Amino acid sequence: MSDRYAVIGNPVAHSKSPFIHAAFARQTDQDVVYERILAPLDGFAQAVETFRAEGGLGLNVTLPFKLQAFQIAHERGVRARDAQAVNTLKFEGATIYGDNTDGIGLVRDIQVNLNFRIEGRDVLVMGAGGAAQGALSVLLDAKPARLVIANRTVEKAERLAERWRGTRGLSPALLSASGYAELSGREFDVVVNSTSASLNDTVPELPDGVFARGCLAYDMMYGKGVTAFLERALSQGAALVADGIGMLVEQAAESFFIWRGVRPQTGPVITALKAQ
Ligand code: NDP
Repeated sequence: MSDRYAVIGNPVAHSKSPFIHAAFARQTDQDVVYERILAPLDGFAQAVETFRAEGGLGLNVTLPFKLQAFQIAHERGVRARDAQAVNTLKFEGATIYGDNTDGIGLVRDIQVNLNFRIEGRDVLVMGAGGAAQGALSVLLDAKPARLVIANRTVEKAERLAERWRGTRGLSPALLSASGYAELSGREFDVVVNSTSASLNDTVPELPDGVFARGCLAYDMMYGKGVTAFLERALSQGAALVADGIGMLVEQAAESFFIWRGVRPQTGPVITALKAQ
């Protein structure tokens, strides 16, 4: 019988993970089936238990369950502890192992697929929700010269910056928090939109001039084509724009590696998804 994996969320019908993992399994000759599980909003832990009891070996966890997945994990990898959220569960006998592959997915897409160096650059992260929280430690590992977290609710950005300054011993010059209006007069080499504003085709109130000439603008949102944020970046001098498809495929590849010990090629899968 094939080894069983699934993505669990609510909603989950839109998820591209079954397509991605089926492609990885074909490519690497792994005998794997990958399903979708729609868990009731109040029934995440029970749905995980049922899948595990039926012999399931691992799950990808999507909204809104990443914090609950963190809580049910018996053991957590360092990336999960950093993010305080889990998007990958692996069942090893009686143990539930939790990891977070979102941050590494983002940074690999930027540095490997888009060939854009983060080290020594000024980075702006827009948003301070779960996606920003998951990406921050991996972005800091890439050694930016400065990183600013900007958020509509500034206190959330401040809490995030404070936590990471404390953990890493970083100065406020290196890692700081901001509202959008206060970014006026500053420019950045990498601008990552981790807000959900693109869902509604809106852009947070960014002052003109934040996009340095030749910069990379990255929207974690995917499946919306060139979002209003990316259009804005292009009109203001960004050299490279990308949506979150590459991040999605890279985080999936890291989950696949955690489960199977095999690293699939992501390029052909990114190309196939972009063509859809
Ligand atoms: P959260 O709900 O945790 O956070 C949403 C963030 O967006 C908050 O910082 C919120 O600000 C901000 N925001 C929402 N609407 C607006 C607006 N109109 N103007 C300004 N700021 C706004 O969501 P996540 O962090 O989990 O997800 C964010 C995005 O990232 C989603 O689009 C998601 O699809 C994408 N994502 C993509 C992944 C990929 O693999 N490509 C992986 C994970 C996420 P405030 O705090 O003020 O409310």
